[in-house]
Amino acid sequence: CGIVGYVGGQAALDVVFAGLQRLEYRGYDSSGVAVLADGGLAAAKKEGKLANLQKELAERPLPTGTTGIGHTRWATHGAPNDVNAHPHLDNSGRVAVVHNGIIENFAGLRAELTDRGHELGSETDTEVVAHLLAEAFSSCGDLAEAMRQVCGLLEGAFTLVAVHADEPDVVVGARRNSPLVVGVGEGEAFLASDVAAFIAHTREAIELGQDQVVELRRDGVTVTGFDGAPAQVRTYHVDWDASA
Ligand code: GLU
Repeated sequence: CGIVGYVGGQAALDVVFAGLQRLEYRGYDSSGVAVLADGGLAAAKKEGKLANLQKELAERPLPTGTTGIGHTRWATHGAPNDVNAHPHLDNSGRVAVVHNGIIENFAGLRAELTDRGHELGSETDTEVVAHLLAEAFSSCGDLAEAMRQVCGLLEGAFTLVAVHADEPDVVVGARRNSPLVVGVGEGEAFLASDVAAFIAHTREAIELGQDQVVELRRDGVTVTGFDGAPAQVRTYHVDWDASA
């Protein structure tokens, strides 16, 4: 339901968690975060309110890293519980993805992945994306390219945001029939389903177009179509009362 991504110089978990709090008004049934740190990926997720996730993070702190993603879920496929909460990871635990929307053809993709030896542990439509990204990344070595390839396989409405431990300073997002906005800061960049999530940090935003993939790095963002063609990017100033 709500998505936040961050890469920059700040502790990603703090930025992502605060962003999720700004998206709470949309309603949700569970939440989770993932950060890249120390060459790996660490994640935490919890059914219920953000306070439950906060408690989990206090009891089992994640390592500090400067690249991270977060999600508040409104379940469409699978009960609202800890396992079905996002982020979803692949079997290597090096890819994490969060998703808003519905992957209509997930059942077929899931059967194919299972045939290829993947073990899927949740009831969600989302989990297939983590496994597909891991497969694509292992052949192309580039998360944005992996996302473009995977989006070509998906049907439905989706905003996807992903990280890979092998690209520790990159966050990748994609959208089809579901909103995703980029926030461009100084030496940092944000992704969110709603500008409210990053308005405290930057007012410079880019609205992603239909069927586009964005690669976020500290020093800039690159946008392409699902076909890899470079996209025109227009930055706009968010004129919005931050206290609202
Ligand atoms: N369809 C996904 C799920 O049920 C994402 C739901 C959402 O948009 O939060 O997990």
